[in-house]
Amino acid sequence: MVESKNVSLRGKNVLGLEYFSADEIELVLQTAKEMKNIIKRDIKKVPTLRGKAIVNLFYEPSTRTRSSFELAGKYLGADVINITAGSSSIVKGESLRDTLLTVEDMGIDAIVMRHKAEGAPEYATKVVKAAIVNAGDGAHAHPSQGLLDLFTIRQYKGGFKGIKCAIIGDILHSRVARSDIWGMRKMGIEVHLAGPKTLIPRFLYKEKGIFIHDRIEDAIENADVINVLRIQLERQKSGLFPSTREYARIFGLNDKRLALAKKDVLVMHPGPMNKGWEISPKVAYSSNSVIQEQVKNGVAVRMAILTLILTGGKGNEVIA
Ligand code: ASP
Repeated sequence: MVESKNVSLRGKNVLGLEYFSADEIELVLQTAKEMKNIIKRDIKKVPTLRGKAIVNLFYEPSTRTRSSFELAGKYLGADVINITAGSSSIVKGESLRDTLLTVEDMGIDAIVMRHKAEGAPEYATKVVKAAIVNAGDGAHAHPSQGLLDLFTIRQYKGGFKGIKCAIIGDILHSRVARSDIWGMRKMGIEVHLAGPKTLIPRFLYKEKGIFIHDRIEDAIENADVINVLRIQLERQKSGLFPSTREYARIFGLNDKRLALAKKDVLVMHPGPMNKGWEISPKVAYSSNSVIQEQVKNGVAVRMAILTLILTGGKGNEVIA
């Protein structure tokens, strides 16, 4: 059991799953299981983080991540405020450094941060003392998404041993793909990637336990999990794939392709979906789809992250 190994995340900045050990990931997943029980209650509030203050500092749009971090903090009894680029002094040209220092001066304990520049959350760790949680930095990392994807896989499959996961699409620009890949490899999942050759980073060809396929069909065959990535149009430079129509034809997940995977395959997508492009509406709403469950699990996993970094408690210990 993880508890006996004395793992603690207290004071840790959550920047990417490449910096997490398997035991640390395990601790988050176990704690999230307890948190999910709280969310199921009629009254969802516990005092675990009473007296703590959290800022969601978002420089890029978000629906799921920002609102689930906000709910997570509130369910745990923390005070949570939101700063979004479009409605703050950021539009007046305030620098990232000055915004961070301003937030710190208000006595904040944790900053949950999304930014279009890779490395911005790491930079923040050098400017302020508050704990930093990366909620997505450019194409680099989205660790809470990687953790909630692992949690969802374990919920349905019971564990990670012998699991084959296909990750399909725009790997190059996807911070979700990177966090999934590092998290899944640490937990022993076999990872199969497929997407346009121009959208697969070269360095992944050399990684152990990662298999790269030219055809989506080869990646999907016999898969236990298929994670479909959104086409990151906002990060695309021109010419990386011919057209969205062509992409859908060659790499889109439709029911014909889904039939190549195991019967009980899980279909996952981090959202927001471009239905009809990377995934057909029929597959997105099929009985194999766990996309809505991923959203539910996102709140529990984010509650676990905030609890562990701000209190160091483990699972049951911190729940009132
Ligand atoms: N919502 C996820 C992210 O912000 C996935 C996506 O946008 O494709 O990275």
